[in-house]
Amino acid sequence: CGTSSLLPMTPKKPPQWLQVVGHAGSFHVGDYGTLLKRFCEGEQQCYLRLMEDVLRPYVPAYHGVVQRDEQNYNIMDNLLTHFNRPAIMDCKMGSRTYLEGELLVARERPQPRKDMYDKMVAVDPEAPTMQERSQHAVLKTRYMQWRETLSSTTSLGFRIEGFRVSSSKMKSNEECHTNFKRTKSREQVIEALDNFVDSNTQIVWGYLRRLKQLRQVLEASDFFRTHEVVGSSLLFLHDWTGRTGVWMIDFGKTAVLPAHLTLNHRTPWEDGNREDGYLWGLDNLIDMLADMLPL
Ligand code: ATP
Ligand code: MG
Ligand code: MG
Repeated sequence: CGTSSLLPMTPKKPPQWLQVVGHAGSFHVGDYGTLLKRFCEGEQQCYLRLMEDVLRPYVPAYHGVVQRDEQNYNIMDNLLTHFNRPAIMDCKMGSRTYLEGELLVARERPQPRKDMYDKMVAVDPEAPTMQERSQHAVLKTRYMQWRETLSSTTSLGFRIEGFRVSSSKMKSNEECHTNFKRTKSREQVIEALDNFVDSNTQIVWGYLRRLKQLRQVLEASDFFRTHEVVGSSLLFLHDWTGRTGVWMIDFGKTAVLPAHLTLNHRTPWEDGNREDGYLWGLDNLIDMLADMLPL
């Protein structure tokens, strides 16, 4: 695969690259304000469909595949390009962050995982059972479901994965916050959101406007109706000029549904209905941001 003709003609200096969360080795800065993300075929399929969907303005533009050091990468717009040292927040949407398919696979071949045990203990030393403790391992299904109840994923339909503030008050050391694994209650999440926007109501207005537009477009999108959207994030960006933006990113775990099935993304999940709670989470997020504004 080569790069497509969608790339702009004028070369730009690559902007400073900030990654809030995710696997550090998966990304490179590309030319012309692009970003290279380690290739994943499912994600490519999503981006190709999204470029033809009403959601197109709400996702980074997709530009095809490129190979570097024998590794393929999906090329997409770097959303930071039009901001000036922005604050960035990654909110993972939905009431679960694993696919029904992943749960099935994990159930079929139960494998005790030491890495997941370690992660569990790091968050809550009391969490493992006697048996898990003696094995020094937990089953993946167990870990996946335990993790969702710690954060606001199960209770609010989204969770903050991390944010980075970059205000003029701080010098070169921008603050990165990724410790939200146990940020669960509405009040805790609102407090974190308020820290992210530095209590700036103009910024909150900007985000609210954009999220309400996104919600309308999601409700009309063929792509959205026909996909289980799991593990996908909303990326929030704002800078000192007051510019705000929100885009949908990370479709590595977004799965196309069988032809007869569509989702409304609000019905609570039951094993087998494939509902992901994405719009329910967005409703909650919008309500919470609205609550942060003065009456
Ligand atoms: P995970 O699956 O663990 O969430 P991942 O490897 O799939 O991570 P992403 O979630 O796609 O990676 O992205 C990780 C981070 O990289 C985001 O939180 C964001 O900070 C940054 N990022 C991703 N895509 C873009 C983009 N198009 N423009 C700017 N920043 C981006
Ligand atoms: Mg992600
Ligand atoms: Mg991902």
